[in-house]
Amino acid sequence: MAEQLLYEGKAKKVFATDEEGVLVHRYKDAATAFNAQKRGSWKDKGRTNATVSSTIFAYLEAHGVLTHFVEQVDEAAIKTRKLEMLPIEVVVRNIAAGSLAKRLGYEEGTKLKAPIVELCYKDDDLGDPMVNWYHFRELGVSDEDLEFCEELGLKVNEILTPFFDERGVTLVDFKIEVGRDDDGRLMLADEISPDTCRFWDKETGEKLDKDRFRRDMGGLVEAYTEVARRLGIMNEMENVATKGPKLVQ
Ligand code: ADP
Repeated sequence: MAEQLLYEGKAKKVFATDEEGVLVHRYKDAATAFNAQKRGSWKDKGRTNATVSSTIFAYLEAHGVLTHFVEQVDEAAIKTRKLEMLPIEVVVRNIAAGSLAKRLGYEEGTKLKAPIVELCYKDDDLGDPMVNWYHFRELGVSDEDLEFCEELGLKVNEILTPFFDERGVTLVDFKIEVGRDDDGRLMLADEISPDTCRFWDKETGEKLDKDRFRRDMGGLVEAYTEVARRLGIMNEMENVATKGPKLVQ
Protein backbone atom coordinates (compact mmCIF):
# COMPACT_ATOMS: atom_id res chain seq x y z
CA MET A 1 0.00 0.00 0.00
CA ALA A 2 1.61 3.27 -1.14
CA GLU A 3 1.48 5.88 1.58
CA GLN A 4 1.96 9.57 0.99
CA LEU A 5 2.55 11.84 3.97
CA LEU A 6 -0.24 14.42 4.13
CA TYR A 7 0.40 15.93 7.53
CA GLU A 8 2.76 15.48 10.43
CA GLY A 9 1.19 16.39 13.74
CA LYS A 10 2.66 16.34 17.22
CA ALA A 11 1.61 12.77 18.00
CA LYS A 12 0.85 11.20 14.62
CA LYS A 13 1.78 11.19 10.95
CA VAL A 14 -1.21 11.12 8.62
CA PHE A 15 -0.83 9.41 5.24
CA ALA A 16 -3.02 9.17 2.14
CA THR A 17 -3.48 5.64 0.80
CA ASP A 18 -4.40 4.05 -2.55
CA GLU A 19 -7.91 3.62 -1.20
CA GLU A 20 -10.23 6.53 -1.91
CA GLY A 21 -11.25 8.36 1.25
CA VAL A 22 -9.01 6.27 3.53
CA LEU A 23 -6.09 7.53 5.62
CA VAL A 24 -3.43 5.85 7.72
CA HIS A 25 -2.56 7.44 11.06
CA ARG A 26 0.86 6.34 12.24
CA TYR A 27 1.32 7.00 15.96
CA LYS A 28 4.67 8.47 16.97
CA ASP A 29 6.65 7.78 20.13
CA ALA A 30 6.92 11.56 20.64
CA ALA A 31 4.82 13.53 23.11
CA THR A 32 4.40 17.26 23.56
CA ALA A 33 2.75 19.29 26.29
CA PHE A 34 1.92 22.94 26.98
CA ASN A 35 1.38 23.67 23.30
CA ALA A 36 4.57 21.86 22.25
CA GLN A 37 6.84 23.88 24.54
CA LYS A 38 7.76 20.64 26.29
CA ARG A 39 8.80 17.59 24.28
CA GLY A 40 9.71 13.98 24.97
CA SER A 41 9.84 10.58 23.33
CA TRP A 42 9.33 7.06 24.65
CA LYS A 43 9.87 3.72 22.96
CA ASP A 44 6.54 1.83 22.65
CA LYS A 45 4.33 4.87 23.29
CA GLY A 46 3.12 4.97 19.66
CA ARG A 47 2.07 1.36 19.48
CA THR A 48 0.48 1.44 22.93
CA ASN A 49 -1.62 4.48 22.03
CA ALA A 50 -2.55 3.11 18.60
CA THR A 51 -3.79 -0.12 20.18
CA VAL A 52 -5.61 1.58 23.08
CA SER A 53 -7.27 4.05 20.70
CA SER A 54 -8.31 1.27 18.27
CA THR A 55 -9.86 -0.71 21.08
CA ILE A 56 -11.82 2.28 22.39
CA PHE A 57 -13.03 3.29 18.92
CA ALA A 58 -14.14 -0.29 18.16
CA TYR A 59 -15.98 -0.36 21.49
CA LEU A 60 -17.72 2.96 20.76
CA GLU A 61 -18.69 1.75 17.24
CA ALA A 62 -20.18 -1.39 18.82
CA HIS A 63 -22.20 0.92 21.09
CA GLY A 64 -23.73 3.00 18.33
CA VAL A 65 -21.19 5.82 17.90
CA LEU A 66 -20.19 6.58 14.31
CA THR A 67 -16.39 6.98 14.16
CA HIS A 68 -13.64 7.33 11.57
CA PHE A 69 -12.08 4.01 12.66
CA VAL A 70 -11.65 1.37 9.94
CA GLU A 71 -9.03 -1.05 11.31
CA GLN A 72 -5.66 -1.26 12.99
CA VAL A 73 -3.19 -2.09 10.21
CA ASP A 74 -0.11 -2.74 12.30
CA GLU A 75 0.89 -2.20 15.89
CA ALA A 76 1.39 1.58 15.53
CA ALA A 77 -0.92 2.43 12.62
CA ILE A 78 -4.66 2.78 12.13
CA LYS A 79 -6.74 3.09 8.96
CA THR A 80 -9.44 5.75 9.20
CA ARG A 81 -11.95 7.45 6.99
CA LYS A 82 -10.65 10.72 5.57
CA LEU A 83 -12.62 13.60 7.05
CA GLU A 84 -12.88 17.36 6.86
CA MET A 85 -12.07 18.21 10.47
CA LEU A 86 -14.02 20.79 12.47
CA PRO A 87 -11.62 23.30 14.12
CA ILE A 88 -12.87 22.21 17.53
CA GLU A 89 -11.51 20.30 20.50
CA VAL A 90 -14.37 19.01 22.63
CA VAL A 91 -13.35 18.50 26.26
CA VAL A 92 -15.62 16.60 28.68
CA ARG A 93 -14.88 16.61 32.41
CA ASN A 94 -16.22 14.53 35.29
CA ILE A 95 -13.72 15.56 37.97
CA ALA A 96 -11.90 18.90 38.35
CA ALA A 97 -8.27 18.74 37.22
CA GLY A 98 -5.77 20.89 35.34
CA SER A 99 -7.15 24.12 33.85
CA LEU A 100 -10.69 23.58 35.18
CA ALA A 101 -9.44 23.30 38.77
CA LYS A 102 -7.64 26.63 38.23
CA ARG A 103 -10.58 28.28 36.44
CA LEU A 104 -13.13 27.46 39.14
CA GLY A 105 -10.73 27.57 42.11
CA TYR A 106 -11.48 23.91 42.87
CA GLU A 107 -9.15 21.47 44.50
CA GLU A 108 -7.99 18.89 41.97
CA GLY A 109 -10.04 15.74 42.38
CA THR A 110 -13.33 17.49 43.20
CA LYS A 111 -16.19 15.54 41.64
CA LEU A 112 -18.35 17.76 39.44
CA LYS A 113 -22.14 17.85 39.95
CA ALA A 114 -22.63 16.96 36.28
CA PRO A 115 -20.23 16.53 33.36
CA ILE A 116 -18.88 19.83 32.00
CA VAL A 117 -18.35 20.25 28.25
CA GLU A 118 -15.83 22.80 26.99
CA LEU A 119 -15.31 23.76 23.35
CA CYS A 120 -11.83 24.92 22.32
CA TYR A 121 -10.73 26.48 19.05
CA LYS A 122 -8.14 24.08 17.61
CA ASP A 123 -5.31 26.40 16.64
CA ASP A 124 -1.74 25.67 17.78
CA ASP A 125 -0.59 29.28 17.28
CA LEU A 126 -3.29 30.47 19.68
CA GLY A 127 -2.80 27.62 22.16
CA ASP A 128 -6.25 26.06 21.52
CA PRO A 129 -8.23 28.64 23.57
CA MET A 130 -11.60 27.79 25.09
CA VAL A 131 -14.18 29.91 23.23
CA ASN A 132 -17.97 30.05 23.17
CA TRP A 133 -20.69 29.56 20.55
CA TYR A 134 -20.56 33.24 19.53
CA HIS A 135 -16.87 32.92 18.70
CA PHE A 136 -17.47 29.72 16.74
CA ARG A 137 -20.27 31.38 14.74
CA GLU A 138 -17.81 34.16 13.95
CA LEU A 139 -15.37 31.48 12.77
CA GLY A 140 -18.04 30.02 10.48
CA VAL A 141 -19.04 26.95 12.52
CA SER A 142 -22.79 26.25 12.49
CA ASP A 143 -24.95 25.81 15.57
CA GLU A 144 -25.88 22.31 14.34
CA ASP A 145 -22.22 21.29 14.31
CA LEU A 146 -21.64 22.74 17.79
CA GLU A 147 -24.67 20.93 19.11
CA PHE A 148 -23.44 17.68 17.55
CA CYS A 149 -20.03 18.14 19.22
CA GLU A 150 -21.51 18.71 22.67
CA GLU A 151 -23.94 15.81 22.38
CA LEU A 152 -21.28 13.47 21.05
CA GLY A 153 -18.93 14.43 23.90
CA LEU A 154 -21.61 13.60 26.47
CA LYS A 155 -22.56 10.35 24.72
CA VAL A 156 -18.93 9.18 24.58
CA ASN A 157 -18.63 10.07 28.26
CA GLU A 158 -21.73 8.02 29.12
CA ILE A 159 -20.33 5.00 27.33
CA LEU A 160 -16.70 5.24 28.44
CA THR A 161 -17.16 6.20 32.11
CA PRO A 162 -18.63 2.79 33.10
CA PHE A 163 -16.34 1.00 30.63
CA PHE A 164 -13.26 2.33 32.43
CA ASP A 165 -14.80 2.10 35.89
CA GLU A 166 -15.35 -1.64 35.41
CA ARG A 167 -11.66 -1.90 34.58
CA GLY A 168 -10.52 -0.05 37.71
CA VAL A 169 -9.89 3.29 36.00
CA THR A 170 -11.62 6.63 36.69
CA LEU A 171 -12.25 8.66 33.54
CA VAL A 172 -11.49 12.15 34.88
CA ASP A 173 -11.70 14.05 31.57
CA PHE A 174 -10.96 13.65 27.86
CA LYS A 175 -10.71 15.48 24.55
CA ILE A 176 -12.27 14.42 21.27
CA GLU A 177 -12.34 15.80 17.73
CA VAL A 178 -15.06 15.64 15.09
CA GLY A 179 -14.93 15.53 11.29
CA ARG A 180 -17.27 15.31 8.30
CA ASP A 181 -17.10 12.74 5.51
CA ASP A 182 -17.84 13.33 1.82
CA ASP A 183 -21.49 12.42 2.39
CA GLY A 184 -21.81 15.20 4.99
CA ARG A 185 -21.92 12.87 8.00
CA LEU A 186 -20.28 14.14 11.19
CA MET A 187 -18.42 11.56 13.25
CA LEU A 188 -15.90 11.00 16.02
CA ALA A 189 -12.29 11.30 14.79
CA ASP A 190 -8.67 11.59 15.93
CA GLU A 191 -7.71 9.41 18.94
CA ILE A 192 -8.74 8.49 22.47
CA SER A 193 -5.71 7.41 24.49
CA PRO A 194 -3.72 8.27 27.63
CA ASP A 195 -2.41 11.26 25.62
CA THR A 196 -5.91 12.71 25.29
CA CYS A 197 -7.62 11.62 28.54
CA ARG A 198 -6.98 11.86 32.25
CA PHE A 199 -7.12 8.36 33.73
CA TRP A 200 -6.74 7.80 37.48
CA ASP A 201 -6.45 4.42 39.12
CA LYS A 202 -9.81 3.93 40.84
CA GLU A 203 -8.30 2.60 44.08
CA THR A 204 -5.06 4.55 44.50
CA GLY A 205 -5.70 7.69 42.44
CA GLU A 206 -2.41 7.11 40.63
CA LYS A 207 -2.18 9.00 37.35
CA LEU A 208 -2.14 6.75 34.26
CA ASP A 209 -1.92 9.44 31.57
CA LYS A 210 0.03 12.31 30.04
CA ASP A 211 0.06 14.28 33.30
CA ARG A 212 3.01 12.02 34.22
CA PHE A 213 4.94 13.86 31.50
CA ARG A 214 3.43 17.32 32.06
CA ARG A 215 4.30 17.08 35.77
CA ASP A 216 7.68 15.30 35.41
CA MET A 217 6.50 12.27 37.34
CA GLY A 218 8.25 9.62 35.21
CA GLY A 219 6.85 6.18 34.45
CA LEU A 220 4.92 7.29 31.38
CA VAL A 221 5.16 4.14 29.26
CA GLU A 222 4.55 1.95 32.31
CA ALA A 223 1.36 3.92 33.03
CA TYR A 224 0.18 3.78 29.40
CA THR A 225 0.91 0.04 29.29
CA GLU A 226 -1.09 -0.40 32.49
CA VAL A 227 -4.09 1.24 30.80
CA ALA A 228 -3.70 -1.17 27.88
CA ARG A 229 -3.46 -4.08 30.31
CA ARG A 230 -6.65 -2.98 32.10
CA LEU A 231 -8.41 -2.96 28.72
CA GLY A 232 -7.28 -6.55 28.27
CA ILE A 233 -5.39 -5.84 25.08
CA MET A 234 -1.85 -6.60 26.01
CA ASN A 235 -0.38 -8.73 28.68
CA GLU A 236 2.97 -8.38 27.04
CA MET A 237 3.83 -5.70 24.52
CA GLU A 238 5.25 -8.42 22.25
CA ASN A 239 1.74 -9.76 21.69
CA VAL A 240 0.46 -6.55 20.15
CA ALA A 241 1.67 -7.13 16.60
CA THR A 242 0.08 -10.54 16.23
CA LYS A 243 -3.05 -10.00 18.31
CA GLY A 244 -4.14 -6.61 17.05
CA PRO A 245 -6.99 -4.82 18.79
CA LYS A 246 -9.50 -6.98 20.57
CA LEU A 247 -13.06 -5.83 20.78
CA VAL A 248 -14.01 -5.65 24.44
CA GLN A 249 -17.73 -6.25 24.87
P1 ADP B 1 -1.85 17.61 16.54
O1 ADP B 1 -0.49 18.02 16.10
O2 ADP B 1 -2.95 18.53 16.09
O3 ADP B 1 -1.90 17.24 17.99
P2 ADP B 1 -1.81 14.82 15.72
O4 ADP B 1 -0.35 14.62 15.84
O5 ADP B 1 -2.72 14.06 16.62
O6 ADP B 1 -2.26 16.33 15.74
O7 ADP B 1 -2.18 14.53 14.20
C1 ADP B 1 -3.44 14.17 13.78
C2 ADP B 1 -4.07 15.25 12.92
O8 ADP B 1 -5.01 14.60 12.06
C3 ADP B 1 -4.85 16.29 13.71
O9 ADP B 1 -4.74 17.54 13.10
C4 ADP B 1 -6.28 15.78 13.62
O10 ADP B 1 -7.24 16.83 13.71
C5 ADP B 1 -6.30 15.17 12.24
N1 ADP B 1 -7.26 14.08 12.06
C6 ADP B 1 -7.69 13.19 13.00
N2 ADP B 1 -8.57 12.31 12.46
C7 ADP B 1 -8.70 12.64 11.15
C8 ADP B 1 -9.48 12.13 10.05
N3 ADP B 1 -10.27 11.07 10.20
N4 ADP B 1 -9.38 12.76 8.85
C9 ADP B 1 -8.56 13.82 8.68
N5 ADP B 1 -7.80 14.35 9.66
C10 ADP B 1 -7.87 13.78 10.88
